[in-house]
Amino acid sequence: MSAKKIGLLGSTGSIGVQSIEIVNEHSELFDINLLTANNNAELLIQQALEVQPECVVITNEDKFTLVQDVLKEKNINVMAGEKALEEAISSLDLDVLVTAIVGYAGLKPTLKAIEGGIDIALANKETLVVAGDLVTSNAKAKGVNIFPIDSEHSAIFQCLVGEKIEDVEKIYLTASGGPFRGKSREELAQITKEQALKHPNWDMGAKITIDSATLMNKGLEAIEAKWLFDLSFNQIDVVVHPQSIIHSIVQFKDSSMKAQMGLPDMRLPILYALGYPDRISSDLPRLDFANHHNLTFEQVDKNTFRNLDLAFEALKKCGNLPCIVNAANEIAVDAFLKDKVGFLEMSDVIEGCMSKVSYIEKPVYDDYVETDSLTRKMAQELL
Ligand code: NAD
Ligand code: MG
Repeated sequence: MSAKKIGLLGSTGSIGVQSIEIVNEHSELFDINLLTANNNAELLIQQALEVQPECVVITNEDKFTLVQDVLKEKNINVMAGEKALEEAISSLDLDVLVTAIVGYAGLKPTLKAIEGGIDIALANKETLVVAGDLVTSNAKAKGVNIFPIDSEHSAIFQCLVGEKIEDVEKIYLTASGGPFRGKSREELAQITKEQALKHPNWDMGAKITIDSATLMNKGLEAIEAKWLFDLSFNQIDVVVHPQSIIHSIVQFKDSSMKAQMGLPDMRLPILYALGYPDRISSDLPRLDFANHHNLTFEQVDKNTFRNLDLAFEALKKCGNLPCIVNAANEIAVDAFLKDKVGFLEMSDVIEGCMSKVSYIEKPVYDDYVETDSLTRKMAQELL
């Protein structure tokens, strides 16, 4: 069998780097043909020299010459700019695209890949939050598979193997609770970005680390789950599980529950998504029960962590509301990382945008683009 040809969007990020690690460990199964990054030219060059893809795209056009100068001697085609990302996806003969870009920027290239019949290994949850109906219906029409990389969704995906979706009563997404579990709103008001950037269990990019601290990440994941598994609002729940060993749970109509567990390590869901339907042997660290005596569960606190409540409201009403939440959150998180807004005020920005940007019940692609752009402007005004 020939190796699966992989495109990797966002190769210089946390998921991107771990994806390359997995591919390198299983080079007989996987071959990377495309690497892309936004800004980090140095790491992108280093990765390209190691992986030898057919093509490399750097979105920041100012870095084009730097990357091109090194890679042209190695017979690697270098392109720059957002459009180039889409060109590369449609011109290369890829089997699967790993979407490890962060934020709304993942939507267009993901749609491009689906149009070309390329399967998606999806880390970029924002794509499904913004336009889940469009993405999943296009994928269905083209016979494209979407394999989740997000650990909770990989867990549910694994629990559903051999099951019928109509037998699912509900799912529980597990949440670590983030670094501020148990804190009051008074305490949260004082949180700095340095504190918020320290996650207890996972080492991730800055945006998702802040989303994990505010619990917005779990809200985005609830919306992601709706579209991935075709669930309704009342079938999706969250339970706090601080040890991050159980990665999520499916409850069936006969009351049985299935959970997937293991050490918190994103390389496993990446490997599962790339290897599906096969399980691939790996040397990833094994859980030792001698070191894990307690697995505990708590109810989630949506009053203190308002972002989660706002995301669930968007999940309930759908339309373009999740797109509004996503754009407002991207602006709020960026402002928080620049010390321009406080930890709790991020929720005010999101709530403000939800009430001010017009609701569209059945949006089409152009509505999403417009909603995203209007919300970003509105969020800037509210800051
Ligand atoms: P990161 O910030 O570490 O990396 C982001 C990557 O995307 C970088 O390679 C960057 O160059 C690229 N990028 C950023 N903006 C871009 C743009 N506008 N155009 C093109 N490329 C751009 O992020 P991450 O932690 O690896 O997360 C990536 C995605 O995976 C996010 O959607 C996140 O929610 C999801 N995810 C991450 C983890 C994790 O453990 N890190 C877990 C689950 C899901
Ligand atoms: Mg997750």
